[in-house]
Amino acid sequence: MKYEDIIHLFQYTRLKTREVEIGKLNIGGKNPIRIQSMISTNTLDTHNTIEQSLKIIKAGGELVRITAQGVKEAANLENIKNGIRDAGFDFPLAADIHFNPKAAFTAAGIVEKVRINPGNFVDKRKDFINKGYNADLQKIEEKLIPLINICKDNKTALRVGVNHGSLSDRIMNRYGDTPEGMVESAMEFLRICVQEKFVNVVVSLKSSNTRVMVHANRLMIVKMCQENMNFPLHLGVTEAGEGEDGRIKSAVGIGTLLADGIGDTIRVSLTEPPEEEIPVAKKLVKYFTERENHEDILKFQPIPVNFFDYKKRVSKKVQNIGGDSVPIVISNEKSKNDLIPEFIYLGKDIAVNTPYGKSNYIINEEIWEQQIFHRDHFFPLFSSYSNYYLSEKKSEKLNFLRINCSEINEILPKIVNLNNLVLIIETNNINGFADQRASFFKLMNVNCELPVIIKRNYNEDILEDLQLKSACDIGGLFLDGLGDGIWINNQGNIDEQDIINTSFGILQASRVRVSKTEYISCPGCGRTLFDLQKTTQQIRNRTSHLKNLKIGIMGCIVNGPGEMADADYGYVGAGPGRITLYKNKEVVKKNISEENAVEELIQLIKDSGDWTD
Ligand code: SF4
Repeated sequence: MKYEDIIHLFQYTRLKTREVEIGKLNIGGKNPIRIQSMISTNTLDTHNTIEQSLKIIKAGGELVRITAQGVKEAANLENIKNGIRDAGFDFPLAADIHFNPKAAFTAAGIVEKVRINPGNFVDKRKDFINKGYNADLQKIEEKLIPLINICKDNKTALRVGVNHGSLSDRIMNRYGDTPEGMVESAMEFLRICVQEKFVNVVVSLKSSNTRVMVHANRLMIVKMCQENMNFPLHLGVTEAGEGEDGRIKSAVGIGTLLADGIGDTIRVSLTEPPEEEIPVAKKLVKYFTERENHEDILKFQPIPVNFFDYKKRVSKKVQNIGGDSVPIVISNEKSKNDLIPEFIYLGKDIAVNTPYGKSNYIINEEIWEQQIFHRDHFFPLFSSYSNYYLSEKKSEKLNFLRINCSEINEILPKIVNLNNLVLIIETNNINGFADQRASFFKLMNVNCELPVIIKRNYNEDILEDLQLKSACDIGGLFLDGLGDGIWINNQGNIDEQDIINTSFGILQASRVRVSKTEYISCPGCGRTLFDLQKTTQQIRNRTSHLKNLKIGIMGCIVNGPGEMADADYGYVGAGPGRITLYKNKEVVKKNISEENAVEELIQLIKDSGDWTD
């Protein structure tokens, strides 16, 4: 069974899943996409945990997750739940469990949902059972069936929540840390749930790597379909970070799946107070639900991409665009920082003596035809194929042709074999993601290798709205290897520098172009051992000029090292006031004082030769 047989690629339609009851909140089926967050206070701090839960709900969250690292914390969920009910609220609570089945047993009798991580529910790290696969599964059954029985008795829902960074050694040995391994890790547990006739189950496959997260969820859909399962999906990008980066990264991962109708509940993980995640999540959900009943995009075959494996569309190189070049950025103004777009669009508003710096210029065809501009730095933009065709003054090196997705069928036979031409593809459809994706497929189906710039037009006055919408619209195309450049055009009142930063941010979050340091910082929970937001800011202030580095900043040593996945350096809470530093996956400084830890991290980067001033 293929992905495109299950998902509607050309029409926004939510995938049908089973309805799951979580207290008074139903997830899946025809229910809206639910919004949730997770508490960052200590679970034994009843008062502050209640306060923070209420803040999440008042912001519009519908479900609150609380970590329960041990039986003591799990038992305290009773006090937290009672306090919330006494305050007049009846929203459901979920307990988050790692490494401790006993805590899960306790929590399942108290809260409405329990999340377990198949990577560590039974298997401890470095504890590969390896007595044969069936013996391994039996060991899982021995722990999972008692939990299922408690859930059945208490009408408690279960989330089988896989994290890319904490797969069991058993899965790692068979599949590596791949999307396939993540799916199998979930399926082992889901099969036992089905065998025990327990279906009040939600599933999630998260990663801080958007490509892995998207591929894993797509594979999961197909696998569940093959095995007659339809559990609702909870979506999230782990350790997305904070601010602009966290929002863009979350929108790229979550948005790409929501665009295909996948996802019944979402959590946007930001290294910020949890209630601040909620407005972001709400905007994402609204953006997709608004596209129901969009203008038809006619179906066609074949579908020329592999939805589970990254492969860049083949394009020929025209100047510095296409081929094996990184995707370029086009902006409407010059950059004031060191994120330099390759091209600036000047339109017709141009003086002959416009100075050129590191960027080149795109000018309208009628201005170009005056032939007075420096041919190495100015290039023409043709607004229609007929203008391009009829022009006798094309550039010998590089021409841009702007077309709308609605024109592609008509134009395609005429352009397929042209040279020195880059397409700029726009869309008017409110499901512009599907419209532009269909245009790429049409190009691929006739082996048209012209480079393509993905251009989207907005009218936004709020930067966060522009970041989220453009990341949802464009990021998913780059995740599938489609696109040789990005051009975000906004008519609203947002500074062009912010738009340039957003363009580079989308390329980085889609993993096709690295232009700045990436911070893989966890959102924090009851296990957090230091002030994550303050420390992340301190580290960012000192290291943001370093390019091509990934720095993990993780609140605890229990999950942190696994979750920070492919970070080059890691700053991980080891105990109260104690930090352990990692280089790649290796511990290099253990239990150092928190006071000096940022300095020591800087020194480690310097000693390793990765520092520049
Ligand atoms: S890494 Fe540790 S502190 Fe951070 S969210 Fe995960 S469990 Fe909580």
